[in-house]
Amino acid sequence: MYARARRSVAGGVSSDARRAAGTPMFVDHASGAELWDVDGNRLIDYVLGQGPNILGHAAPAVVKAVSEQVARGVAYAAQHEWEAEVAERICAMVPGAELVRFNTVGSEAVHGALRLARGLTGRPKIVKFEGNYHGWLDPVLYSVHPDLALAGQASQPNAVPGSAGLTPHSAADLIVLPYNDLGLVRDCFERFSGQIAAVICEPLLCNTGAIMPVPGFLEGLRELCTAQGALLVFDEIITGFRLAAGGAQEFFGVTPDLATFGKAIAGGMPVSAIAGREEVMAAIADGRVAHAGTFNSQPVAMAAAAAVLSILDERREAVYPAMHQAGQALMAGIRAAGERHGVPVLVSGPGSVFQVYLTEKSDVRDYRDFAACDRPRMARLHELLLERGVNTVPRGLWFLSTAHSPAQVDETLGAVDAAFAAL
Ligand code: PMP
Repeated sequence: MYARARRSVAGGVSSDARRAAGTPMFVDHASGAELWDVDGNRLIDYVLGQGPNILGHAAPAVVKAVSEQVARGVAYAAQHEWEAEVAERICAMVPGAELVRFNTVGSEAVHGALRLARGLTGRPKIVKFEGNYHGWLDPVLYSVHPDLALAGQASQPNAVPGSAGLTPHSAADLIVLPYNDLGLVRDCFERFSGQIAAVICEPLLCNTGAIMPVPGFLEGLRELCTAQGALLVFDEIITGFRLAAGGAQEFFGVTPDLATFGKAIAGGMPVSAIAGREEVMAAIADGRVAHAGTFNSQPVAMAAAAAVLSILDERREAVYPAMHQAGQALMAGIRAAGERHGVPVLVSGPGSVFQVYLTEKSDVRDYRDFAACDRPRMARLHELLLERGVNTVPRGLWFLSTAHSPAQVDETLGAVDAAFAAL
């Protein structure tokens, strides 16, 4: 199938990430926490489409909502009942959400949020952090600021494949700082006083390890942004509806001005959203900042979002503790397997998402610590797990869903033990 795909699909895949681990997997079908490849192998799945399938694959509520809406029409370019319903639900769930706008994918939501910040403040510069991924559009893809003396050295943390084609202009107003270092953010605001429109971050850094913000980091960003008139943007495309019903902002107790959502919001259908304070979102509401998209609020995807969010909201007291507990059971079991087999392992994250690092370090605070892990051995562990029926994100990230059962967690830990023994 890969050979066939390469004859007509450039590189044989439509996302470089899917080729990252050698031959890409071809899936036949998926259900709950399991998927089956075209060779008939059954895998317990901790990739979940890179996070979206928070209710598991082919969740009955999503299948029903989508099927019913498909029969009523797929694309209207007109208003329908789901848009306000989903927006109301997000406003009820997410502390910082007073008004919402929808797009299709995460990269667009980030683009919209940063444009909104620039439009509203009239300032050009955006601060982002090393190793934080905010989509593949030019203005945030860059991780190098040509003029960056603050961090001591220019860095290339995202290792974006094939970044040829980006112009230096794309990066001119992007400042990239190390994650978890508030002092450098303070210095940066002094140096570029009055020029910074927004600070954007993954509130839990998931794209290069599930790296927790150090105590005071998010709070400090909040204070600095308020004092300096810049917007604080949380990119909640992974953390939204995953860490808690109200995402990272509820989980960590820090409210941004704007947040972006995607992935889990519609249980696998493509919906993304920008949500924020009324005064900020007003610039979109009154047309000062343009916002468009043919597939925005596509009714099939929005019907799925309504179904997913109603379950996560109404059953929040059961689903979040259960997802975190399943993840924590895996985390503990993985640590124990590392000890049993003499493999130095560090496991980090809240549970519903977590990262397995192979490293002697006892703490991972930023992208550089992640980059210093034994990456070849982590790639080998990924393969050994795949061979034993466990599918994880190749760089060592694991996503949980409400569909993962205690029996599947136990079965996974059996595979983990065998994989560590082989390692
Ligand atoms: N932000 C974060 C934090 C992400 O993890 C991703 C996707 N991995 C994006 C933005 C981009 O989203 P999309 O791939 O849907 O464009």
